[in-house]
Amino acid sequence: MTDSASSRARQTRIVHPDLELAPGFESFSTPVMRASTVVFPDLAAVRGADWRNDAQWRYGLHATPTSAALTQRLAQIEGGKHALLQPSGLAAISNVYFGIVKAGDDVLIPDNVYSPNREHGNWLAHDFGLSVRYYDPMIGAGIANMIRPNTRLIWIEAPGSVTMEVPDVPAIAAAARARNVVTAIDNTYSAGLAFRPLEHGVDISVQALTKYQSGGSDVLMGATITASDELHHELKRARMRMGIGVSVDDCSLVLRSLPSMKARFEAHDRSALALAHWLKTRPEIAAVLHPALEDCPGHASFMRDFSGAGGLFSVVFDERYSATRIDAFVEALELFAIGWSWGGAHSLAMPYDVASMRSASQWPHRGTLVRFYVGLEEEADLRADIERAMVAALG
Ligand SMILES: *Cc1c(COP(=O)(O)O)cnc(C)c1O
Repeated sequence: MTDSASSRARQTRIVHPDLELAPGFESFSTPVMRASTVVFPDLAAVRGADWRNDAQWRYGLHATPTSAALTQRLAQIEGGKHALLQPSGLAAISNVYFGIVKAGDDVLIPDNVYSPNREHGNWLAHDFGLSVRYYDPMIGAGIANMIRPNTRLIWIEAPGSVTMEVPDVPAIAAAARARNVVTAIDNTYSAGLAFRPLEHGVDISVQALTKYQSGGSDVLMGATITASDELHHELKRARMRMGIGVSVDDCSLVLRSLPSMKARFEAHDRSALALAHWLKTRPEIAAVLHPALEDCPGHASFMRDFSGAGGLFSVVFDERYSATRIDAFVEALELFAIGWSWGGAHSLAMPYDVASMRSASQWPHRGTLVRFYVGLEEEADLRADIERAMVAALG
């Protein structure tokens, strides 16, 4: 203890303690480094600070070593260079909009997009002077014909997380790049494990870490991943201006789940695919929309670009069942809970009104769509649950 320190009052020494922690501690966990204030060594460090430099610590909202441990891992998973964290997957989508587009710009969004993205786009079109147009997700290279001089951003979702249509991502990305248009993909479905969009020419990958990365149905977080310094800075500046950041306690929960993510993803994938194959044999079902099945739109793109599918797929019931009967089926399920989000251990089921997203000319099905998320229960029990609910509700 220095002389000046030893002469201070007890209260001051509580705030400025003189600690001696034994060196040499090591564990597998990332320390939770909580901070609002980040302490600078001197004023030269304050004045020389540059928000673009990820190696400098400035303020707890922007990053701490805990959040940096997560962003670096996320960038590595997807073969990117940079990642940023947002408080939800939707906040990551919003970060892309506010980082990339300005009034007067045009944005293209796939028709089957995650609906809060659609609502966000519509909001910007209505109140902030953007032009927003929707495209058929199966358009492929034809997207080139839709690009206008003021088109700045093209959204992609692969596959659409309700209709399961798999777009030709490299074709869309190539057409965009040829015209200097930024592409952003909602890559939540693949967790960045089964599909690496940056290697297929996409500029920004968005993840809802709420899903597989968290794995526990108890954390909300999102990320944007890029390979370009320039795009990273555009997103980082918008994030800073909007004042958004994430809790390092939540980062610590995601960091805890990441090592098991691939094993969980593969377990979800196995059960979901087995259930999808079985559902195809059921007379109640008109179509099974699982990208690994041959008749799923975009199956060829899926086989070319993806290495797996995870736990999510949809079915379309025969049109002889009314939407009310299908509601009764969903409510009769015991192991499949009714709720949003996915990526945890628990299976989920939700009916969707596809007519509100896909125009009738582009959507061949008439029956009601139900999306299943297959959790980590035994597949045989899930199958029995679906069969029992079908008998109970559909007769
Ligand atoms: C869940 C989800 C999001 C949003 O994630 P939140 O963390 O719930 O905001 C975005 N895109 C897709 C495809 C999702 O499934």
